Amino acid sequence: MALQGKVALVTGAASGIGEQTARKLAADGAAVVIADLNLANAQKVADSIVETGAKAIAVAMDVTNEDAVNAGIEETVAKLGGIDVLVSNAGIQIVAPIEEYAFSDWKKMLAIHLDGAFLTTKAAIKHMYASGKGGSIIYMGSVHSHEASKLKSAYVTAKHGLLGLARVVAKEGGPRGVRANVVCPGFVRTPLVEKQIPEQAKALGISEEEVVKNVMLKETVDGEFTTVADVANTVAFLAGFESNALTGQSVVVSHGWFMQ
Ligand code: NAD
Repeated sequence: MALQGKVALVTGAASGIGEQTARKLAADGAAVVIADLNLANAQKVADSIVETGAKAIAVAMDVTNEDAVNAGIEETVAKLGGIDVLVSNAGIQIVAPIEEYAFSDWKKMLAIHLDGAFLTTKAAIKHMYASGKGGSIIYMGSVHSHEASKLKSAYVTAKHGLLGLARVVAKEGGPRGVRANVVCPGFVRTPLVEKQIPEQAKALGISEEEVVKNVMLKETVDGEFTTVADVANTVAFLAGFESNALTGQSVVVSHGWFMQ
């Protein structure tokens, strides 16, 4: 129970990696906040965590909306007494070759991944400072924080950007006990990835099996998908790591797709 007595807010926690991360942080003793655009699904996740005997609440939050982010963080502090861990995880994927990439989609991608990370950090860090206890901020990056792939101009740009943000937050937060790190998963079979398989097959003119084998998992050491549990365990490790020895880093969880 490494996170006993801690409060952790996870954005995009109604599905996929965020959901599993919230479940793992709760199993490790944290009170968790399931923050998501989709409040109905967030409430279901929170209710099922409560059934395990842990503390969990759901909050409606569009991470691109400053007022919604501030309200969700204030609700967290009012109901649970503070915030010790922020996992900025909410994300989507839109794939297209750059000459066809709609500017509106580019702006939407940067808003969810980068504005979301900035706004949640800004709102949460002041409470981490005020408590005198510091905290841990974890951004959900990707192998695409380090590598590029065709069709993913906005995603790769945003995920690279998170490395810069984490390094600045690590430097500003360090003297006050706030750590910032990026977790960089390879492909994980969540709804975000399931949707991409037929889209990429169409855009690249290959079969769905070939997308999985020759695009998504080609560079891994064993042809295996990373799992939500692999990612959640890595986040939990960083959340419970109590010194500045590990800050400003990115941890790649990808079956060897990217080695740093
Ligand atoms: P997912 O689609 O299963 O879940 C994403 C969640 O984010 C959903 O519950 C959705 O409602 C929520 N969300 C979307 N827009 C939001 C907004 N504006 N405000 C609040 N919540 C919002 O996706 P996932 O695969 O679990 O992805 C989670 C994160 O992991 C993303 O940042 C993604 O880029 C990253 N990631 C995923 C993979 C993968 O292979 N699945 C790999 C590397 C990184």
